[in-house]
Amino acid sequence: MKQSKVFIPTLREVPAEAEAISHQLLLKAGMIKQNTAGVYSYLPLATKAIHKISDIIREEMERIDAVEVVMPVLQHAELWQESGRWEAYGAELMRLRDRNQREFALGPTHEEVITSLVRDELRSYKQLPLTLFQIQTKFRDEKRPRFGLLRGREFIMKDAYSFHTDEESLMKTYQDMYDAYKRIFKRVGLNVRPVVADSGAIGGNYTHEFHALSAIGEDTIVYSENSDYAANIEKAEVVYTPPDTEKKAPKALEKIATPNIKTAKDLAELLELPLEHTTKSMVFKVDGDFALILIRGHHEINDVKLKDYFQTDNIEMATEDEIRNLLGAAPGSLGPVTDRDIKVYADYSVQDLVNIPVGANEDGYHFVNAVIDRDFTVDGFGDFRFILEGEPLADGSGPAKFAEGIEVGQVFVLGEKYSEAMNATVLNNQGREQNLTMGCYGIGVSRTLSAVIEQHHDDNGIIWPKSVTPYDLHLITVNPKKEAQSELSDKLYATLQEKYDVLYDDRQERAGVKFNDADLIGLPIRIVVGKNAEDGIVEVKRRDTGESEEINVDTLTDYIADLYEQL
Ligand code: ATP
Ligand code: MG
Repeated sequence: MKQSKVFIPTLREVPAEAEAISHQLLLKAGMIKQNTAGVYSYLPLATKAIHKISDIIREEMERIDAVEVVMPVLQHAELWQESGRWEAYGAELMRLRDRNQREFALGPTHEEVITSLVRDELRSYKQLPLTLFQIQTKFRDEKRPRFGLLRGREFIMKDAYSFHTDEESLMKTYQDMYDAYKRIFKRVGLNVRPVVADSGAIGGNYTHEFHALSAIGEDTIVYSENSDYAANIEKAEVVYTPPDTEKKAPKALEKIATPNIKTAKDLAELLELPLEHTTKSMVFKVDGDFALILIRGHHEINDVKLKDYFQTDNIEMATEDEIRNLLGAAPGSLGPVTDRDIKVYADYSVQDLVNIPVGANEDGYHFVNAVIDRDFTVDGFGDFRFILEGEPLADGSGPAKFAEGIEVGQVFVLGEKYSEAMNATVLNNQGREQNLTMGCYGIGVSRTLSAVIEQHHDDNGIIWPKSVTPYDLHLITVNPKKEAQSELSDKLYATLQEKYDVLYDDRQERAGVKFNDADLIGLPIRIVVGKNAEDGIVEVKRRDTGESEEINVDTLTDYIADLYEQL
């Protein structure tokens, strides 16, 4: 395609609010244009890259017998009422009314639509397993749309749903999807880790998220460089190892005045102790009952782990009033030494401490030298905290490394959640009606495009992996007004196009502008037709390494073929 005919409005400056590098580069390279918050037009280069990513996804889906469909974006509210999500989905669901005032949603995901589709069409276990997928625009009224295509309110997703009558078949498809996702992300050039994730609901739901490791991202991923271990920090288990040093001798409990001491850090400074020798006491309401959780001063409490430990989603911090009523002091002076009716739970690592400083449950006072089982009892020890960088990992490897992760995909065992609510049954092999069991599997297609750029760029622009590059080659005429140059370029364009998708910069622009744009757009191979055109010599440059060579046009096709192979 001739660049003079393509719409690539590159920018020299980017709007200051674009924080993420992929957002900046998508804007600068003229690939997207914002329409309103979280809503973008995909310009020609982005459209081509999205097509390439989508084609890879299609190939890998078909390889595991998933079949493509297109379902409606416009979804009747009744379907969502049936599943109970019309209310539960909350403000993220884009809602609208038709001319007859009937309520609709713009699909953020398609469990309801697909369950209603198959319940009317699937009759027998003989038609199963069945996996359907689509690639489509989704709508979510995100609270904070940001980072360009990484978190949009309108975005492209591949969503797939599988139907089974038994667990074994479901787990096979889950595994097939998991493997297909690994292939897809590898093929698009992403360094991705599948991570054990929080399913958000108690009840043994099984799920993995696929995270592209990057400098920005909204999740912290804990991973190992020595194994495949990776987990969302919310889930990364802490391995408790008792210290091999002998415990100190207990000292007498003593109350001291600690005016203005509110944090573990303040207390550590006052007592001239390392922070890890102090503790923090926090009060939560667990299913309506108060629980005091004790962790060490240098650790942070992890609510997902609390929910797992207590096996409930119903956990919240107690309010200041509740705490004062219960313990008689404000947060900052709380502790487990009390005769009030409250259960005490402590992180595993607290059991290593002797002579522990704790709040005295009296404003402005602490105890020093509290001892477990002498001054207070612990109703249960558990893993209540976030893992720290450098600690050992649950698979025996380590040290724990942290990276930011962009969730590009997720595979999820749904079980009978939707089939039960929406009455989707089939006849099983004993001739009895049975709920379908389901899995669902998403990939953020537009988010993947951004993630590829997050992982493949330099200071000058994008560096496309060849699998998803909008065009394969960038052919640039330095000065189209020079006949030798434009003639040779036209000729090369004609031959190269037979094998490659070529972007031909035939524009009447200064060479500097063209080269800057080429770096920014970042196609893998650049062919520059300049002043040596008269002698049949062109320059060929790799975008990734920056290496360039002068090549005689007679050997150019072979040279490019080799180079392209090496990419
Ligand atoms: P997140 O936790 O990032 O909000 P999610 O877990 O709610 O995402 P899913 O329902 O699992 O998202 O959707 C499947 C995939 O769609 C995600 O893995 C992600 O890649 C993509 N996705 C979700 N929300 C957005 C969004 N607002 N913008 C772009 N892509 C998105
Ligand atoms: Mg998800």
